[in-house]
Amino acid sequence: PNPLLEVEDLVKHHHTPAGAVRAVDGVSFAIGRGETLGFVGESGCGKSTLGRTLMRLHEPDAGTIRFEQRDVTRLGRREMRPVRRNVQMIFQDPYGSLNPRRTVRQLLTEPFQVHGIGDAADRRERVGRLLERVGLHPDHAERHPHEFSGGQRQRIAIARAIALEPRLVICDEPVSALDVSIQAQIINLLRRLQRESGMAYLFISHDLSVVGYVADRIAVMYLGQIVEIAPKAELWREPLHPYTRVLFSAIPLPSPPSQARRERLSLKGEPPSPIAPPRGCRFHTRCPHAMPVCREQAPALREVEGGRQVACHLVGAA
Ligand code: SF4
Ligand code: MG
Repeated sequence: PNPLLEVEDLVKHHHTPAGAVRAVDGVSFAIGRGETLGFVGESGCGKSTLGRTLMRLHEPDAGTIRFEQRDVTRLGRREMRPVRRNVQMIFQDPYGSLNPRRTVRQLLTEPFQVHGIGDAADRRERVGRLLERVGLHPDHAERHPHEFSGGQRQRIAIARAIALEPRLVICDEPVSALDVSIQAQIINLLRRLQRESGMAYLFISHDLSVVGYVADRIAVMYLGQIVEIAPKAELWREPLHPYTRVLFSAIPLPSPPSQARRERLSLKGEPPSPIAPPRGCRFHTRCPHAMPVCREQAPALREVEGGRQVACHLVGAA
């Protein structure tokens, strides 16, 4: 009822000389207000393309994106402006997303300028408050991004993302480039900011243990599609999709599920090319449980008990 973001059958292919890379190939989900939905999967599964398509950094090929009940799939640049104010993005590499020639003050003032918020004195004050909220000293405002460590730079990128008090922040691998000790600090910062402001996160990571720490629900992607989406507790108790089970077997869990499930599973071979994904179930070439039907029929993402959805012929076939 009344989700913040609703995505239906979203498709985004990248056209290359070798053919169309089916990066996002029919993805549907919703995010509630203040919720964190994690997206996990191997690199190349389409997570980043999904995030960028939701931001309209890529134009979707098909499907619908609704934000606060409004269809924003095909809005023009000007109509998108109020939406952009409410949907921000944080990237893996803060250095790449922060203009190196600008001071922190300029970087953090820009969102207010673009949206015509406040006068010079007011913006100064807002920048000071933003720096404090992300754990940086107000004196840092006159420095440039290169004068900061990776973790501090990510704090600046976060400050910029939350400047306009967005309803949704898309975090694409926000801690993957950082040392493990710094990762925890940044994740804790993101969680605190969420508690303070009630914003929702779409949190993308290849690292299931990171996603498990922040997410309320988790979507598992494989070759451009969601294969399982479930509340974190349900997924932790029992991953249902064979691919999810493999992902789970590879990480040290804080509270491990049953011993049987802790046996280390490994995947056969490399992921197939997203240019020519296998027919039928896309996971069948690597699935330890593949049956003849899996090579012919793509399993639909179906509701099963516990508020979860799974796309596998073995699951929910009552
Ligand atoms: Fe494995 Fe078949 Fe399920 Fe695909 S549908 S995950 S191949 S059992
Ligand atoms: Mg990526």
